[in-house]
Amino acid sequence: MVKAIGKTKKTPGIEVIDIEEPALGPEDVLVRVKATAICGTDLHYYHWDAYAERHNPGLPRVLGHEFCGDVIKIGENVKTLHPGDRVSGETHIPCKSCIFCRTGKMHICKDMKIFGVDTIYGSFAPYTALPEVTAVKIPDEIPYEVGAVLEPLGVAVHAVSEAQIRPGDFVVVMGCGPIGVYAQQLAKLAGASKIISTDVKDYRLNLSRKAGVGEAINVLRSDPVARVMELTNGVGADVVIEVSGANSAIKQALDSVKRTGRIVLVGTAHKPTEVDTTNYLIYKEIKMSGITGRLMFDTWYQSIKIAVNKLIDLGVVTTHRFELDDAEEAFSLIDKGEGGKVVFLP
Ligand SMILES: [Zn+2]
Ligand SMILES: [Zn+2]
Repeated sequence: MVKAIGKTKKTPGIEVIDIEEPALGPEDVLVRVKATAICGTDLHYYHWDAYAERHNPGLPRVLGHEFCGDVIKIGENVKTLHPGDRVSGETHIPCKSCIFCRTGKMHICKDMKIFGVDTIYGSFAPYTALPEVTAVKIPDEIPYEVGAVLEPLGVAVHAVSEAQIRPGDFVVVMGCGPIGVYAQQLAKLAGASKIISTDVKDYRLNLSRKAGVGEAINVLRSDPVARVMELTNGVGADVVIEVSGANSAIKQALDSVKRTGRIVLVGTAHKPTEVDTTNYLIYKEIKMSGITGRLMFDTWYQSIKIAVNKLIDLGVVTTHRFELDDAEEAFSLIDKGEGGKVVFLP
């Protein structure tokens, strides 16, 4: 038996449980988890909401999907990984045979499963097992704690790549959680001349200020659209990256981007957003697109180069470190919006 953070019942809360060691399938690798971070997705299980009900492979289960560790054992069909390799979790488990998987778009596989979401075994444990395709080998010089956040970093890398930021661009990033703050730093790295960041929580705005790449605005106290227009002589931002998932932020994105500007959506809104396509997408020729997860594996090669060369400060959002036993304290911090990246060291 191993100690893990997970669920035994469909009720709110988080538990430290004893569970059988994960079984190793022929396509799987067994990993000794060294660092594993809480993601917003994990909160669905903390509250046990409709999402948790939809993505429930059975109970008891182990949560967690953002991690870094060492491969200690491989299944008989595993070819690219070996014991001793340091790996980071990709999270997405593609089917490898649908039309999207076969045309280089594994990240939007038609039969996608998500490790630690659709699987019984996640990463909040000393050991976990996952398919070879879902574990990405990383250089030993990347510390475990950094390796554990390459998955959310990859979302930001994917978003900034999609946004095609050009040298000098005026960029707005809505949302100052870990992915937002990574995106703000990456926008700077890509050549943005000015970055405006927004959020509703001062705690998260301060993470953005700590990263030091622009002006952070609390949208509950001041109007970000007015500020962007003031700074751009009424023209608007070249690029807006929307990470918060708030319907109001999507509206602000449309109002603050310039004619012909680009909006990249990353945050998932719980309710549909009404968009005036005629006035924004047609008459202003605003380009709006979304991204999900990381390109497999283009984004990973970029993220690894960013981490190895320390091109941005990945540690700036990592605010707390806990033992597995402190699950409740760790989850309640994230739930209250009083933590950035919270990492367990199993
Ligand atoms: Zn996640
Ligand atoms: Zn597929």
